[in-house]
Amino acid sequence: MSRPLIARIHPAALQNNLAVARRHAGDARIMAVIKANGYGHGLRRAARALWDADGFAVMSLEEAGHLRDLGWDKPILLLEGMFDVAELAACEAQRVTLVVHHAEQIAMLEQAHPVSPFPVFLKLNSGMNRLGFKPQDFHASLARLTACVNVSEITLMSHFATADGAAGVSGQLEIIQAVFSDLDHPVSLANSAALLRYRATRRDWVRPGIMLYGASPFAGENAHALDLQPAMTLSSRIIAVQTLASGEALGYGASYIADRPMRVGVVACGYADGYPRHAGTGTPILVNGQRTRTLGRVSMDMLCADLTDIPGAGVGALVVLWGEGLPVEAVAAAAGTISYELLCAVAQRVPMSEGT
Ligand SMILES: *Cc1c(COP(=O)(O)O)cnc(C)c1O
Repeated sequence: MSRPLIARIHPAALQNNLAVARRHAGDARIMAVIKANGYGHGLRRAARALWDADGFAVMSLEEAGHLRDLGWDKPILLLEGMFDVAELAACEAQRVTLVVHHAEQIAMLEQAHPVSPFPVFLKLNSGMNRLGFKPQDFHASLARLTACVNVSEITLMSHFATADGAAGVSGQLEIIQAVFSDLDHPVSLANSAALLRYRATRRDWVRPGIMLYGASPFAGENAHALDLQPAMTLSSRIIAVQTLASGEALGYGASYIADRPMRVGVVACGYADGYPRHAGTGTPILVNGQRTRTLGRVSMDMLCADLTDIPGAGVGALVVLWGEGLPVEAVAAAAGTISYELLCAVAQRVPMSEGT
């Protein structure tokens, strides 16, 4: 038998979550975000399950190429656009839609000689201050793109910094509405959090990511309550059991000391598999379907689970690190991070398979 750690991807969950996005989107078209290898679920696997989307958003041309190889004929949005003029030939070959977010990219488009013009998403920086043109520069940029023979349809886009939090979208939305008000172009604003919470952000295209993978974008609201199903279950097994007397230490740094007689299960999963090393004692974990806690430091290939109250669990017992029965958000919170990072970080050495 091989090492028992495996990431199972659930296509039915991806499909369910797309349907939830569709319900919230109404008439808006869905640009399913599958960057970062489909948030760690595998680009092709995610794409096949989300095939009913109206477009896919990726970060690299390589990802776009994989989608075209699969036979994807609908739009592919390149979220950071092109990085230099030389890349435009490959962009044309993959028929990508370019995000244009700074003046140099407009100059590249003006200098290029494509056979057919590019559809573009022109990005407004409405307050996130990462990518996009400032409100005062937006109209001039749009005028340049409109005049450029190498540009076809222009969609207006912006991105929210705090759609998942208390600040919400109102501040940015006010700026967006002011800048876009007299413009007659399609508009794309909403990420998952905005799509789920703010109807006013659902315009012509929405851009859900994390919700498609079954995780909640909100700190206080669980995915189940949003009708979302986890698309990845990371599971393993107990490979050894230790009995500790009160006062005995466990693992590297001897950071955990048993405060009573304990049974400890050693799980085949560690930080080299993508499990967060910052997840301290008390991180939730399922053994034989029962919720318990991790103990001590996560090491490279192993971590420990408290079996004291699960007497039936021995070597070979099934462990769920996250997924069905244990939201990845709960593990992320215990590790001081977000679900996105854990999903994207599942290591190459972890076998991935499709299944229910
Ligand atoms: C990643 C990304 C999204 C998706 O965000 P989620 O929070 O995962 O829904 C949407 N738009 C842009 C520009 C992105 O980079």
